[in-house]
Amino acid sequence: MEPRITLYDKTFVPFISARRLTEAIDRVAEKINADFADARDVPVLLCILNGSLVFTSELMKRLTFPLELACTRLSSYVGTSSTGQVRQTLTLPEHLEGRRVIVVEDIVDTGNTISALSGMLQERKVAEVRICTLLLKPEAYHKEIPLDYVALEIPNRFIVGFGLDYDQIGRNLPEIYVLENS
Ligand code: 5GP
Ligand code: MG
Repeated sequence: MEPRITLYDKTFVPFISARRLTEAIDRVAEKINADFADARDVPVLLCILNGSLVFTSELMKRLTFPLELACTRLSSYVGTSSTGQVRQTLTLPEHLEGRRVIVVEDIVDTGNTISALSGMLQERKVAEVRICTLLLKPEAYHKEIPLDYVALEIPNRFIVGFGLDYDQIGRNLPEIYVLENS
């Protein structure tokens, strides 16, 4: 990994290596496979753009049961902090009623995003919602919604890479970097 990365006005340092990411994704995929191995339905894997694009593509390659891929886009972050307002900027797919949905998130921070999304999915009368997230900030998360699959827990710091951005850049970094002195 690069010892330091500069994105616009901020400096980031190495935080999670590609190897640790791969191992964590392997573990979480194994759990999901165990839970869905005998599924008679075709669950929907719902990728939350843009942040979870990289994680979803890595995860889905490891899933061994028939599934459908769908995408939606929600955003609550401006710069390096959550606004608390969750905006849906890409509508949900049409065919969700009665389906089991596995939401794939890049990171759960305050939980505002998954909480808003869970409400939208209940309105669509889905059969079940499970949440899968690459990262969780346990110090920031105080919602009741159970997080079924968490690949890695991290402290309450601002990170970029592996799909996560700083003002829309840095998503293409293959590893995760953390804001220096955050
Ligand atoms: P929440 O709604 O749980 O507070 O925040 C979830 C969303 O905020 C994530 O899907 C992600 O897009 C963004 N987010 C939260 N923490 C971070 C972070 O440390 N770095 C980046 N780049 N985005 C974050
Ligand atoms: Mg996200």
